[in-house]
Amino acid sequence: MSKVNSAGLDADPNELGLETLAIRSGHVRSPEREHAEPIFATSSFIFNSAEQAASLFAEEETGNVYSRFTNPTVATFETRLGYLEGANYCVGTSSGLAAISGLVLCQLKAGEHVVASRELFGSTISLFKKIFSRFDISITLVSVSDNDAWQKAVTSNTKMLFLETPTNPLCQVADIAQIAQIARAAGAMLVVDNCFCTPILQQPLSLGADVVIHTATKYLDGQGRCVGGAMVTNNEQIHDDYFAMLRTTGPSMSPFNAWVFLKGLETLSLRMARHCENARGIAEWLQKHDMVESVFYPGLKAHSGHDLAKRQQSDFGGVVSFRIKGGRSVSWKFINGTRILSITANLGDAKTTITHPASTTHGRLTEEERNLSGVTENLIRVAAGLENLDDIIADLEHGFTAAGAP
Ligand SMILES: *Cc1c(COP(=O)(O)O)cnc(C)c1O
Repeated sequence: MSKVNSAGLDADPNELGLETLAIRSGHVRSPEREHAEPIFATSSFIFNSAEQAASLFAEEETGNVYSRFTNPTVATFETRLGYLEGANYCVGTSSGLAAISGLVLCQLKAGEHVVASRELFGSTISLFKKIFSRFDISITLVSVSDNDAWQKAVTSNTKMLFLETPTNPLCQVADIAQIAQIARAAGAMLVVDNCFCTPILQQPLSLGADVVIHTATKYLDGQGRCVGGAMVTNNEQIHDDYFAMLRTTGPSMSPFNAWVFLKGLETLSLRMARHCENARGIAEWLQKHDMVESVFYPGLKAHSGHDLAKRQQSDFGGVVSFRIKGGRSVSWKFINGTRILSITANLGDAKTTITHPASTTHGRLTEEERNLSGVTENLIRVAAGLENLDDIIADLEHGFTAAGAP
């Protein structure tokens, strides 16, 4: 059931805060009077009669038929995330990339064109360049913070503008409201992948975006357990097209994963506050370190996106990147020298993670593409977890010692 309604709430949702909606919305209690949300581990649903079956199949009445279409646990997650994004519609998917590919499948056709930020998640760029290019959907990449470049890249065939903000790994910030205007003037839709901020820090629909994409795999789960995603919108037509695509092509969210994500949403605001606090602490400490060349965190006044982030976000997020003095070998020594931090490309976890983007997440780019995105050999990304900040900093100091700090 992907239309967001006041299911499970006796109060007017418009009068409730995000923290309350994240905990209370979406659950329609079963006759068993359960307190916690149940997992509906069922692939299909039974009908009371042959007549009811016929009527549900003919879409004369709405209700569950088969879990590729709808499932009550998935619907609870969708309603909850929809409320947090201030949206009328939300559809859960099997992964963040499934959410994006599904949107392209149901909204674009051969001959049409996409403008996207160069700093997108690597697989999102591959999706457009390697898969959708075969269906004659073309893409132009621009620098996320250059509004003139967005404007210039738009053609008469442009149907979609796509961005992430802040970007990975340099935390550049896009002006969502300005780019939404460019999209509107061109008759195109603006899609924002809200992975880094989550609706707790930023609500792109309220700034003019048409669609929000989520990878639930990151902060929404928050403990690195499940893969999932979502498409969120206020546009009924986009929703209807999307739901038809989901039914027919099948990238549906599993009920078990939906349950993990909806429990994750209950603690999202608390966790985001701690992710931001730890990231800020790490960024401020790194800034003073002798072995650090530069630090990228929108919460730092010196960061190019600071003022914009302050306007359109309620906090600055959990990801910090920095350039260490040296090259690849010093960077790797630093990473190997940490004892607590997890060496993994993932983020949005209770566990702090550390990554060398040039040889992992951005390793498949050409050197020129890497340089354009600022992903140099001495760049290190830290996605702050929820541990004790002093312990994280002490561990980073182990890294500097291993990398040759006096
Ligand atoms: C991880 C990620 C994705 C892809 O999500 P999956 O759930 O892994 O498919 C998309 N966008 C961003 C910004 C990501 O970090």
